[in-house]
Amino acid sequence: MVFRRLVGVFGVQGACVLCLGLVMAVAAGVPGTRAASQMTGAGSEGGIRVSAARVAGDDTRTRFIADLSEGVVYSVSGLADPYRIIIDLPEVQFDLERETGATGRGLVSAWRYGLFAPGKSRVVLDMSGPVKIDKSFVLPPVDGQPARLVIDFVKSTRASFEVDFAREERPDPGQADEAHGKGDRMAVAPPQSGRPVIVLDPGHGGIDSGATGHKGTLEKAVVLDFASVLKRKLEQEGLYDVHLTRTSDTFIPLRKRVEMARALDAKLFISIHADSAPQSYVRGATVYTLSERASDRVAAALAERENSSDVLAGVDLTEEPGDVADILIDLTRRETKNFSIFLSRAIVGELRSAIRLIKNPQRSAGFRVLKAHDVPSVLVELGYLSNKHDETLLTSPEWRERTTDAIAAAIGRFFRPQLAKGGE
Ligand SMILES: [Zn+2]
Repeated sequence: MVFRRLVGVFGVQGACVLCLGLVMAVAAGVPGTRAASQMTGAGSEGGIRVSAARVAGDDTRTRFIADLSEGVVYSVSGLADPYRIIIDLPEVQFDLERETGATGRGLVSAWRYGLFAPGKSRVVLDMSGPVKIDKSFVLPPVDGQPARLVIDFVKSTRASFEVDFAREERPDPGQADEAHGKGDRMAVAPPQSGRPVIVLDPGHGGIDSGATGHKGTLEKAVVLDFASVLKRKLEQEGLYDVHLTRTSDTFIPLRKRVEMARALDAKLFISIHADSAPQSYVRGATVYTLSERASDRVAAALAERENSSDVLAGVDLTEEPGDVADILIDLTRRETKNFSIFLSRAIVGELRSAIRLIKNPQRSAGFRVLKAHDVPSVLVELGYLSNKHDETLLTSPEWRERTTDAIAAAIGRFFRPQLAKGGE
């Protein structure tokens, strides 16, 4: 079988089980010079553009096609539960229509694309079931036609999917880092200023856009703008060291966000989101804390959506560590929970006089991004992009000023007792 042979010859790079790109390019008759330039094309100057991408075919055979400004070296891997095919590319620019990938065809139910880590772009295809890659190749650009990446899928079985996409043995702790790329790894030492550290976490990013508004507003963009304004505001007070988990449109896995807060010895972690709901009339802000049992159905559904970020981006979660059972950790966790609830109350209190809140604005559920046992953490849903009024507000600088003022005031209330003690 083609696959196994190719793997045997070319081995495995990191988490990518089947690194076929160059191999297939050669197999498809691409001249050697082309293959060489494909190698250097990775993250090249000027940038590789994806100008079109589509899925064709039916339930027995489905083809994914992407038009590229030049050939690329790519790799394909698969993950089950749910079934996904992941195409890793060097950093490319996707110039695609807004709705591209929202619906699929044949064996592909939907797909998405974007930056996965600095220097690495990715396409994740949601598959309706187990598949086999029948063919995959890059056609070089000819006669003004773009280069073309083609991947053909056929229906398969779970057993054969598992064999085809079996993960190689890899060093245990490094797994997550590899999947996330080195660029987002923070070389952090807890800061020396003595000021409390606040980590602001703009949700989503890169391949994971989060919610989308009627007018096309992307959650990943509004929350980054919001977090950046809030950071500046907090820094102006001169009392805190403020960090963002991301400063650009790149994907950061949920666990990585938690790890950043812990590595920085943060005293506060605020994850910032903007939700969507099936009912377009739902609007207003909500503040969430972590709880094992969700406060209500809406909170449970939201946590499930937010927790799916890594799944959407094709991150392998099978080696994520579970919660540690340890009495000291439990004690810390309880204390942290109290601080988190205190903060969520303070934020709700301040927001109430500044902006519109949802009914019962203080809620809780099992958000993975709030799981640092020793960092008080809350998740603020600023509003609903599925509501037209909220969407307008979320992009309004005036609203952003008011809302960041309120949250900064709540953070002030949170730290006042600590700063008073430590300062004198
Ligand atoms: Zn979100």
